[in-house]
Amino acid sequence: SAAAPAKPAAKKVARPNVRQTKMLIGGHWVDSESGKTFPTFHPATEEKIADVARATEKDVDRAVKAARKAFEGEWSKMDARDRGRLLSRLADIIEANKDELAALETLDNGKPIKDAMTADVPLVIDTFRYYAGWADKLTGQTIPVRGNFFSYSRREPVGVVGQIIPWNFPALMVSWKWAPALAAGCTIVMKPAEQTPLSCLRMAEWAIEAGFPPGVINVVTGFGDAGAALVKHPDVDKIAFTGSTETGQIIMKEAANTLKRVTLELGGKSPNIILADADLDAAVAGTDFGLFFNQGQCCCAGSRVFVEKKIHEQFVEKLVERANARKFGIGDPFDLETVQGPQIDKDQFDKIMSYIGKGKEAGAKCVTGGGRSGDKGFYIEPTVFDHVSDDMPIATDEIFGPVMSILPFKDVDEAVQRGNKTFYGLAAAVWTKDIAKAHAIAHKLRAGTVWVNCYDVFDAAAPFGGYKMSGIGRELGEAALSNYTEHKTVTVSLGG
Ligand code: NAD
Repeated sequence: SAAAPAKPAAKKVARPNVRQTKMLIGGHWVDSESGKTFPTFHPATEEKIADVARATEKDVDRAVKAARKAFEGEWSKMDARDRGRLLSRLADIIEANKDELAALETLDNGKPIKDAMTADVPLVIDTFRYYAGWADKLTGQTIPVRGNFFSYSRREPVGVVGQIIPWNFPALMVSWKWAPALAAGCTIVMKPAEQTPLSCLRMAEWAIEAGFPPGVINVVTGFGDAGAALVKHPDVDKIAFTGSTETGQIIMKEAANTLKRVTLELGGKSPNIILADADLDAAVAGTDFGLFFNQGQCCCAGSRVFVEKKIHEQFVEKLVERANARKFGIGDPFDLETVQGPQIDKDQFDKIMSYIGKGKEAGAKCVTGGGRSGDKGFYIEPTVFDHVSDDMPIATDEIFGPVMSILPFKDVDEAVQRGNKTFYGLAAAVWTKDIAKAHAIAHKLRAGTVWVNCYDVFDAAAPFGGYKMSGIGRELGEAALSNYTEHKTVTVSLGG
């Protein structure tokens, strides 16, 4: 008899080597002046990956001085088009090393390699390319003022910018921060998240290779104290921050002392509204993706799912089916078939599990998931709560994990009003086949991004950011350039 066909081996991607664990200050790879380091871990196994230099206030000061020197030196004399060329070159180098960057993200963050390869890294490359094109297009105006004067405006770089980023999309956040700042002619001191410093350091190596002059990009690795030192530093002109709303508030208060410019991209509790006339299968797939993508660790996660009562039962049944199927895709993030990896660390794992407990206590119905997955690594089952009411903690607080709340509604106005009943305003979505309704609802939702019949569609050209306590300012698109430029008016007497 014929032998049974061999089961194909799971396709795994190899772990990358970690090449850089020092900080980049003024073009040099350096240890912390204190000699201190901190470990970074692989969230799937909880193993230590590497020890990374831990920045102190003194290191931050050195980095700011280097950034100032670069801002006043060669960088300010470089033609705008040549700045664009450097950004283009950086995009090319990253593209040539895209598999290494994806693997590094998976190692440090734990996200499925397939997501890193198909979502994070292509968007990183696109972002650098998009802003490469903007560098020589930041024009001013000629202004018709009264009298015999000639007035014009210039858009000048804001100066030395401090950039502080989180761990959920480490490389992507580097590109969203660096690309518009460099296109505008600023110099940078970046502090990546303590959980995920590795991809940022590798990208900084590639930036040097691309030819950015020393001091234009500096990277200080460390914890919140290093971020705070950057915010306090009198010679930093602007802070761009992505992370929690709480830390954003602390930063804004501190920045008031030196009146730094501040842009913030903070948390969310985004409403995802499903009308009865929606394409049900598409809505189910988009809702599943909108919350569970990246293990639920997205600031724009569609965590409040408003479902019209008429289709509620049917919708939940299909959604639970899908979430259950997702459980089979939980696994080693280096496996190309894995769809869900671990949460970033023990703190996040504990926070999410405590919210699952709160959901159960409040009387919401846990229709799937609700527990840990496995006994190693910070894995959590895809979890869906049904019959959630607006005031339950799982409906009001950002959980930042694979926990979905379903809130039934009766009519559309009610859904919009309840959807807007939050301190946040980062994103929202609506699913319907009625095009007029779709636009009308999109206009009424108080959020920086509204997706219609889709979710989590990002493009380097489309601005992204929050209303209300989800932030200040916009990233991406032309809008992000105003975060990094000052308008200067020059008025010249024409005599007489
Ligand atoms: P966080 O906001 O504390 O950390 C983000 C970054 O800020 C990190 O680089 C951190 O080192 C730095 N930081 C911390 N304290 C600082 C301070 N006082 N001054 C300057 N920089 C400081 O976020 P977290 O502790 O990693 O996560 C906590 C919660 O934040 C999560 O559960 C989630 O709800 C939310 N979060 C949101 C986003 C987002 O993109 N909106 C990203 C990560 C986390």
